[in-house]
Amino acid sequence: MTTELLIDELKHIIGSEFVLTAEEDKSPFLTDWRKRFTGKARAVVLPSNADQVAAIVKACAKSNVPIVPQGGNTGFCGGATPHGSGTEIVLSLKRLSRVRDIDTANQTMTVEAGCILQSIQEKAAEHGYLFPLSLGAEGSCMIGGNLATNAGGTNVLRYGNTRDLCLGLEVVTAQGEIWHGLKGLRKDNTGYDLRDLFIGSEGTLGIITAAVLKLYPLPVAQWTTLVATPDIPSTIALLNLFQQRAASLLTGFEMMTQESLDLCAKHFPQMANPLQGKPPFTVLIELSDHESEDHVRQLLERILETALEEGLVSDAIIASNLTQANAFWQMREHITLAQAQEGANLKHDITIPLSGLDSFMQKTDALMRQRYPGIRIINFGHLGDGNLHYNIAPPEGVDPLAFNQAEEVPIHELVYEQVELHGGSISAEHGVGQLKLSGLRAHRGAVAHDLMKSLKRALDPNNILNPNKVVLI
Ligand SMILES: Cc1cc2nc3c(=O)[nH]c(=O)nc-3n(C[C@H](O)[C@H](O)[C@H](O)COP(=O)(O)OP(=O)(O)OC[C@H]3O[C@@H](n4cnc5c(N)ncnc54)[C@H](O)[C@@H]3O)c2cc1C
Repeated sequence: MTTELLIDELKHIIGSEFVLTAEEDKSPFLTDWRKRFTGKARAVVLPSNADQVAAIVKACAKSNVPIVPQGGNTGFCGGATPHGSGTEIVLSLKRLSRVRDIDTANQTMTVEAGCILQSIQEKAAEHGYLFPLSLGAEGSCMIGGNLATNAGGTNVLRYGNTRDLCLGLEVVTAQGEIWHGLKGLRKDNTGYDLRDLFIGSEGTLGIITAAVLKLYPLPVAQWTTLVATPDIPSTIALLNLFQQRAASLLTGFEMMTQESLDLCAKHFPQMANPLQGKPPFTVLIELSDHESEDHVRQLLERILETALEEGLVSDAIIASNLTQANAFWQMREHITLAQAQEGANLKHDITIPLSGLDSFMQKTDALMRQRYPGIRIINFGHLGDGNLHYNIAPPEGVDPLAFNQAEEVPIHELVYEQVELHGGSISAEHGVGQLKLSGLRAHRGAVAHDLMKSLKRALDPNNILNPNKVVLI
């Protein structure tokens, strides 16, 4: 089938205004959030329901035209960006944005893939519930993209990754069939877990059109504190102290180095670190309680007292109101935005077992500074999960693009070698996409990688769903 015939068929399925072919209309869908990847597409299509998605996949399968699913386009690995060949179509899920059901007895919510994460949180709160997935892009990322990348964020410590928050899925397969898996069951051992197969598959095995999400009771009180710690061993000891004493009330534990906060203050002066004396590490800690304000506040104060006595913490500020607590979180979340303003940088989204974190940071920092004097290591992350965003910006005054072009490969090699030596992962929460494709076989090992290829071949034998992302077959 020629491109023209396919486009006509797609227009017939969803209406011509939802099949974008003009360059200016397609362009917002062709570059990723970080502006690292730009591709081309025959068309961008915007279906409004699962039947239309299925019909589009069938039409494309008949013509052997690959499809790149796209949610909010905030991913960091180029998974939602088409390649440069111009043969693919981008399928945006943004019009599948209905909340289909809220079941308060079952504590679940059924939503379509194009629902913006923040709108899901707000809808849940209107009904007195918490949907705990929370990340810096929540105003624009979509739940389908969160599921497809198994996104993490700031609440993983207490509630888990997106995978842990999902009970069922509706998925369009590579053959254009619809798998109706929207059961809100907490137990279902009837063979292979298809839901978990599609979650985290980055659009390479199926297109998620809807999901059943878990809801939790809204906490009645939340207290947030910023503390200064001298080093990583003290920071981990502090985490362990909070885990022991606050247990499931601990909902956030975010670490930021002074270098990352300096960058944040440079671009957002109103978000300077309120702790005095530029501590090497600043930790944002949040406790959430279902009992009372007093209960959680007293618990927080008692734990901080112990931490001060034991020398784990040198200074602490407890947010006195919601505005101040939000300002602490804003500071944490603006590090990523400050990096984007500073210019291109080399990102590493890694996890290390907490017991090896200090050694990893000491060795990697030393090697990096020895090889690149003046280099800026923008290091922060969801420390409670052992997840570091170990990002590298060139020395002040050096052109970031030229630096990255020359040093990207050796810098990635240096970081990933240390990750392997410390038993970590080269992608903690952002996925693989096209960014980490080449390193995956070496990282996962031949057996795991071959199993992944077998799955891809079995579910998508013609390789039409997001080809050349995650695994090459
Ligand atoms: C400021 C900022 C902060 C961030 N913080 C975090 C963080 O703390 N934790 C974290 O994990 N990530 C974070 N991210 C990365 C990003 O927001 C997440 O990866 C998010 O889950 C992507 O959702 P999206 O809707 O934008 O997906 P997209 O970027 O559109 O797509 C991501 C991948 O999923 C696939 N996909 C999208 N929708 C579907 C679907 N319906 N069916 C099948 N495949 C689909 C795409 O093909 C692509 O491979 C952050 C991003 C930004 C910009």
